[in-house]
Amino acid sequence: SHPLQFAVFGHPIAHSVSPQIHQAFAQQFGIALDYRAIDAAPDAFVDAIGHFFHEEQGRGANVTMPHKAAAFALADERTPAAARAGTANVLTRLPNGRLSAHNTDGAAMVRDLTDRHGLDLRGHDALLLGAGGAACAVAWSLIDAGVQTLTIVNRSPESADALADAIGEPARARTRYWEDLAGIGSFDLIVNATSAGTLGHALNLPFSLAASRATCYDLGYGKSAFGFLAWARVAGARYAYDGLGMLVEQAADAFELWHGRRPDTEPVYQSLCVQMA
Ligand code: NDP
Repeated sequence: SHPLQFAVFGHPIAHSVSPQIHQAFAQQFGIALDYRAIDAAPDAFVDAIGHFFHEEQGRGANVTMPHKAAAFALADERTPAAARAGTANVLTRLPNGRLSAHNTDGAAMVRDLTDRHGLDLRGHDALLLGAGGAACAVAWSLIDAGVQTLTIVNRSPESADALADAIGEPARARTRYWEDLAGIGSFDLIVNATSAGTLGHALNLPFSLAASRATCYDLGYGKSAFGFLAWARVAGARYAYDGLGMLVEQAADAFELWHGRRPDTEPVYQSLCVQMA
């Protein structure tokens, strides 16, 4: 019998470690799967997805930049986690042939912080930098996890305002202007959900943002997180983490959705840390 068909779609995608993560999970259960990285330019994404699911009998796909909004839009149905983020990082072909969109990014990020790094988010004053697809997913999950306040700051203020409005708890989720960062006080948790590091741009954040004992978290990993994490250490943050754990956790959620088994993420995370160092 043919191995089960899975793929990650992105652009660029050549350096993705998702195939490696899914194969490592599959090995834990002796599952044989075919998991490819498929490069699709934005104007070719919808056709590539259609081909994969309907011609090649694809069972599930991970979706990364820049296709998460398109993946959400093309699906036949959407989970609540995808609906509130407005983006999808997982597409699954249901037994009836319909495509279901799901978003595991927010829950994965919170699980990385709480379960792997041992942080109790309840009562935290959190600052979220960015209001793109990943930031939206993370914002909802930070609220779920019980942060006391969530201050959302985005370069373009409209998307930060739209996110705070969607959350609809003005006393907890509020926005500030990027230009005012030096005057808005300090935070226990600072999450960088911008793509600045990936694009090679500096954020030029004021050191006053980090409370003593603050935790700083960059959704990026590898080289793209260096700038923010270096800033965090100089600012006096107690802990500075990159998004590698989030990457492994979101993959584990997709794996469980597709295979009905919960993989052990820790050995996979540890070996990726060594590989990326
Ligand atoms: P989007 O393109 O949807 O959003 C990008 C965000 O970054 C916007 O808020 C944008 O602001 C902001 N931004 C970009 N450049 C700058 C800059 N120079 N200064 C300030 N803000 C800037 O991207 P995603 O939300 O999909 O991804 C964001 C990051 O998260 C990426 O680096 C991605 O790799 C990472 N990520 C990691 C995951 C993981 O598993 N570890 C999962 C998902 C994402 P504006 O609105 O003004 O343009």
